[in-house]
Amino acid sequence: MSTKFFINNEDQILRDTGLRVTKQRLAIVRVLFEAEDHPDAEQVLARARERDASVSQATTYRTLAALAEKGVLQTHTFDGGVTRYEVSNRPHHDHLIDIETGDVMEFVSEEIERLQRRVAAEHGYEIVAHRLELYCRKAS
Ligand SMILES: [Zn+2]
Repeated sequence: MSTKFFINNEDQILRDTGLRVTKQRLAIVRVLFEAEDHPDAEQVLARARERDASVSQATTYRTLAALAEKGVLQTHTFDGGVTRYEVSNRPHHDHLIDIETGDVMEFVSEEIERLQRRVAAEHGYEIVAHRLELYCRKAS
């Protein structure tokens, strides 16, 4: 996975973001790069505290904001409410959100990718980035 590239460079990520390297911030960055879901700040805090009990809420929020501003993290507000975080260097994918459980699933559809490129091209554009979120309920 492409996260491997970064996984031993947590301190560099912090320095590049203009943050002082502390063991608390390193714990936060490790949590983010290991996450296979889309945790919100409270979840990041809880997981970081499992690694280092001295991680504070303020440090977590400030670190997340700085990493997001620098583009290391992508933010999502799937449910229109709480901000969720995901590292930016993962392979492109779209999200399917179960509106009843809040579960977030990732998917890639070559057909959708092609269709989007075609729509952009028909308007004389090429796609630089896109986000697609499907809000779903289990079909009965
Ligand atoms: Zn995702």
